Amino acid sequence: MKGETLTDVIVVDGGAAGMMSAIAAAEEGAKVLLLEKNEKLGRKLAITGKGRCNVTNDCDLQTLMENIPNNARFLYGAFSRCLPSDIKAFFESLGVPLKTERGRRVFPVSDKAADIVNALQKRLAELHVEIKRENVRSLFIENGAVRGVNTHNGQIRAKAVILAAGGKSYPKTGSDGFGYTLAKQAGHFIVEPRPSLCPLVTVETWVGQAVGLTLKNVAIKLTCDNKPIYEDFGELMFTLDGVGGATVLSASAHIPNGMESHCALEIDLKPALSEKQLDSRILRDFESLRGKPFSESLRKLLPRELVEPFAELTGISPDKKVDEINKNERKILAKTLKSLTFHIKSFRPIVEAIVTRGGVSVKEISPKTMESRLCSGLFFAGEMIDVDAYTGGFNLQIAFSTGKLAGVSSANLVKNI
Ligand SMILES: Cc1cc2nc3c(=O)[nH]c(=O)nc-3n(C[C@H](O)[C@H](O)[C@H](O)COP(=O)(O)OP(=O)(O)OC[C@H]3O[C@@H](n4cnc5c(N)ncnc54)[C@H](O)[C@@H]3O)c2cc1C
Repeated sequence: MKGETLTDVIVVDGGAAGMMSAIAAAEEGAKVLLLEKNEKLGRKLAITGKGRCNVTNDCDLQTLMENIPNNARFLYGAFSRCLPSDIKAFFESLGVPLKTERGRRVFPVSDKAADIVNALQKRLAELHVEIKRENVRSLFIENGAVRGVNTHNGQIRAKAVILAAGGKSYPKTGSDGFGYTLAKQAGHFIVEPRPSLCPLVTVETWVGQAVGLTLKNVAIKLTCDNKPIYEDFGELMFTLDGVGGATVLSASAHIPNGMESHCALEIDLKPALSEKQLDSRILRDFESLRGKPFSESLRKLLPRELVEPFAELTGISPDKKVDEINKNERKILAKTLKSLTFHIKSFRPIVEAIVTRGGVSVKEISPKTMESRLCSGLFFAGEMIDVDAYTGGFNLQIAFSTGKLAGVSSANLVKNI
């Protein structure tokens, strides 16, 4: 057949998990061919952590597991071979010094994600991993075992194939969900891909009036059916139809499947003040603004974009003189500032999510090797598996740990053929 070649291990893609799989397989002595449809490897990796790459989290195994809401136990085998300390040592051995920031988040000292991508590429070159720009269209399966892949340029045969084609989020980086089609071809069940770490659409449409506004130090509380399920402190951003920013993305990962419309976000815009302290502050403002309209006092408390919507939410006319505002109205104002509530309508589309929840069912993958239980010689790694984590470097740790295990296991399989 046109274009047919034979190698030990084919790695489908050059993302975080794919590059790590290829390195691990080659380190075990396998001849490895890495196929990536993009011109450049690691396109998503290069934009992680706002271009700084939060490469892992400097935590122990228990903390790692606690930060993975979905199928954490499946990852036990992968983590026992490759912990955050191993990833730190790995990148430092490749000449990338690392630093640990708030929340034990690990970044390159240079603050450049490109340094992480380059280090992986350098290691691939040292190990003579062959890299080809190819779009894999299907798997080549014979008698229940994978024997290679088919690309637009023909068939490439191999003794093992690692699928690490990513999820469905940020498809412009290459992860467009086609990996699921390849997994399905081998008979795998795909747990419905859903957004996680994703901006949220709110029932309250007034948010659009404040689009682009970022609040830096707010406390948020996520409730589901009125029960608190998550709290955070930090940044919140107003979007055209809802809210985003670090606290909201983290909160979104705690929303139980299918329950988004039962959830609400309560925002404390003045977390440093108790309701009583806030009332004294409002009274002081009113005192200094005698005879002036309510809207002017709001300007002292809030960014310009929130003045009008706030006046409406409190039901106090923006033109009402501050000295005419009674105790009850002041109470309503303080309450709104302490618990501005957004009811959640939905997630934004999955293409805007930082990670994909769902993917290849873990029931059909061996946690000890990452090999398919349905098709021998086929391995999985990274985000295309039905696992996902909170923010903090945990998702890349999953990609690296599963990649490492899939790489080592595929090389071991090849040795025994
Ligand atoms: C904006 C953003 C910021 C993030 N920041 C962080 C962070 O700081 N820390 C963290 O831990 N996580 C972060 N994440 C999540 C993290 O980037 C992903 O979980 C991780 O990159 C997944 O790695 P992967 O190798 O499984 O998939 P990907 O990195 O998506 O790689 C998949 C690759 O497969 C290729 N491919 C797909 N189909 C085919 C095909 N048919 N043929 C050939 N190639 C194919 C794609 O081109 C792509 O290169 C971030 C995500 C985003 C979107």
